[in-house]
Amino acid sequence: MKKEILIATHNTHKKEEIQQILGDKFTVTSLTDYDIHDEIVEDGSSFHANALIKAQYCFDKTGKPSLGDDSGLVVEALDGRPGIYSARYAGNHDFAKNMAKVLEELDGIENRKAYFVTVMCLVDEFGTNYFEGRVYGHLTKEIRGEKGFGYDPIFIPDNHEITFAQMRAEDKNKISHRKKAIEQFLRFMEN
Ligand code: IMP
Repeated sequence: MKKEILIATHNTHKKEEIQQILGDKFTVTSLTDYDIHDEIVEDGSSFHANALIKAQYCFDKTGKPSLGDDSGLVVEALDGRPGIYSARYAGNHDFAKNMAKVLEELDGIENRKAYFVTVMCLVDEFGTNYFEGRVYGHLTKEIRGEKGFGYDPIFIPDNHEITFAQMRAEDKNKISHRKKAIEQFLRFMEN
């Protein structure tokens, strides 16, 4: 029988991306499939804490194996900021303002090292497990490219010369932090 995984999201795109990577051995569902429309309050102080809050919430509501995730950009010279505040660093989901704030804070700073991270948390009847994926790179001094979302236009992954926003989605998704975290989760489920 196929194993069901409930993803702690209302975002159908996220659900489909995860379904694609997990393949047909799993049935991926989302909160919307359970008619749960609450906004889960992410007030944890780390990526792990936020991923756990989301997964635990879904597990408590449904009793199904639940996967929560939290992602963000971590900039070395900014002591890890924007970090867990990535989505609302300058304005709530205002990607242009958020990028402008990071670039402004890095003005005149040579060290532009940064990474994207995704932490996923699985809560099921057996307990709690975490999976983490990172992609390392550096930040540009200006916006480059129009694809993607978030901080993609200022992030160049290591061993590349273009930003995530200049890459085709398929190419970004092959090396992304999210992909690496989901792969770890898949390996865990297969064992
Ligand atoms: P979430 O936890 O997946 O909702 O991500 C939180 C925030 O981190 C997003 O709103 C973006 O600002 C940033 N972020 C996460 N993943 C990416 C990515 O792949 N590219 C660019 N920004 C990202």
